[in-house]
Amino acid sequence: MSCLFCKIVEGSIPSAGVYQDDECYAFADINPQAPVHVLVVPRKHIVSLAEAAADDRGLLGHLHWVAAEIARTKGLAKGYRVVVNIGEDGGQTVDHLHLHVLGGRPMHWPPG
Ligand code: C5P
Repeated sequence: MSCLFCKIVEGSIPSAGVYQDDECYAFADINPQAPVHVLVVPRKHIVSLAEAAADDRGLLGHLHWVAAEIARTKGLAKGYRVVVNIGEDGGQTVDHLHLHVLGGRPMHWPPG
């Protein structure tokens, strides 16, 4: 198993976990871009959103619900941003689908 996030999900690489259930694991980003920066990662290895299958639709919805639950837990009542980078032009650097939950400061638009 060579995937970094698969190793984090199964615990062979340590991480600061903030949420887990049967379908996903969430942990603090190692290089935070905001006061709150959490990654929500499915336990299933899916390379990116572009590779998600029709059978993954329920999982994709669940990941978004978990992102909102983490934001509630972290007290992000003023708002927050959920980001999914996809592929080279999308800025994806780890080839295992993940949602970034960013908050605790005002976000800007357009993103870089
Ligand atoms: O969307 P992208 O693929 O660029 O995001 C990968 C994220 O994984 C980065 O924000 C990076 O800081 C994070 N990361 C991490 N722990 C690692 C390696 C990367 O939290 N060991």
